[in-house]
Amino acid sequence: MGLRGCPRLPVTFATIIVAATGLPALAGRGIAACLLFWYNNGKPSDSGFIILSDGGAAQDGYFLRKTFKYRLYPNRLQAELLDGQLAEARRLYNAALQERRDAWRMMGKSLNYYDQANQLKEMRAAGDLGLANYSACQDVLRRVSKTYTAFFMRVKVGKKAGFPRFKSHRRFDSYAFPAYGDGCKLRDSGRLYVQGIGELKVKLHRPLGGRVKTLALKRECGRWYACFSVEVALSEPLPATGLVAGVDVGLTSFAVLSDGTAIANPQHYRKAQAALRRAQRKVARRRKGSNRRRKAVRELQRIHAHVSNQRSDFQHQVSRKLVNAYDFIAVEDLNINGLARGMLAKSIHDAGWGSFLSKLSYKAEDAGRALVRVNPNGTSQRCICGAAVPKNLGQRWHLCPECGMSVTRDHASALEILRLGLSLRVLTPTLVGVA
Ligand SMILES: [Zn+2]
Repeated sequence: MGLRGCPRLPVTFATIIVAATGLPALAGRGIAACLLFWYNNGKPSDSGFIILSDGGAAQDGYFLRKTFKYRLYPNRLQAELLDGQLAEARRLYNAALQERRDAWRMMGKSLNYYDQANQLKEMRAAGDLGLANYSACQDVLRRVSKTYTAFFMRVKVGKKAGFPRFKSHRRFDSYAFPAYGDGCKLRDSGRLYVQGIGELKVKLHRPLGGRVKTLALKRECGRWYACFSVEVALSEPLPATGLVAGVDVGLTSFAVLSDGTAIANPQHYRKAQAALRRAQRKVARRRKGSNRRRKAVRELQRIHAHVSNQRSDFQHQVSRKLVNAYDFIAVEDLNINGLARGMLAKSIHDAGWGSFLSKLSYKAEDAGRALVRVNPNGTSQRCICGAAVPKNLGQRWHLCPECGMSVTRDHASALEILRLGLSLRVLTPTLVGVA
């Protein structure tokens, strides 16, 4: 549960806190956020941001980290330069990885970020590095360092470790400017200046809000994008609606709410099937390594990207509706050690459900709503009266022998999820209707 799952402070108290801290973002933010603020001596929590990969956002108490992604329209020369910088970033990445492996194998020495970053100046002076911006070079080395840390963490907890790998042209699609303003800047003219490239045409299809922290340049299916990572203050909490809901991952629909509403699956993937098959055939017919084949592959990638955009858009809409409608939302936590993986149909849902949950969770946090994740184990095998109602996958109806409740299977699960969620809530503010 987010910090703001706590009850709101009385107005007077909140006003005192705002006056004392000078942080209007804390107004009505709940006691935990304020306590955390004091605990940290007036600094935002150092827990760090969780950066989500799908252009989402993450929170650290009073700020929300968001990504704004815009299409770039480089001219031919600029596109070549962008490709060149990306290739240089990749070369540096692979070289740094190689150096770490060699140092370990030959001398049993493990290098850290600083060992490698100290060589940058020399390399650049010798003209051996084509990536124009110094901070961007450092960022590449930091990425190598991060993959190493993650690798050792996995080894430590005994997970399947997967050694950091060299990146091929296909697996390396972005590089970043870690300090906005250093080597990159959005000009008043609306063009994006990038060091070593010049001024790029950028389509600002929506206004860029908040304080820009970093910029990443990303190549996707042959198109370039600018991803601004931005820090925005949390918005005003939404007025309470007095409604609560449990949400179950549907088998036949996308999700079912505890009031019985089913949210239909948009089935973008199925609808795109014909186009995908056509594009796939085209690829298969063309000679390997040829220009025409590369073009066909790009076309195929674009259809995949389109489907994934549609899915993401759908998830944004659904999560927005839920957050607007309910004060309290209980969902299944499908990440509890693969507990849910016993059910095939649900694990198919997993990927989509995970990215949906992250969208739901930051929207809930921003709106001051409570989101609770419950253990999904057995939610479809129990009745809210506590009686066991075992069902196999084919059984779509829930009929309780104890209390006589007769609803669809997913509806019963959603009700059980809501019951669990409410029972997990430590404090129980006055909530009116139970949906
Ligand atoms: Zn029952």
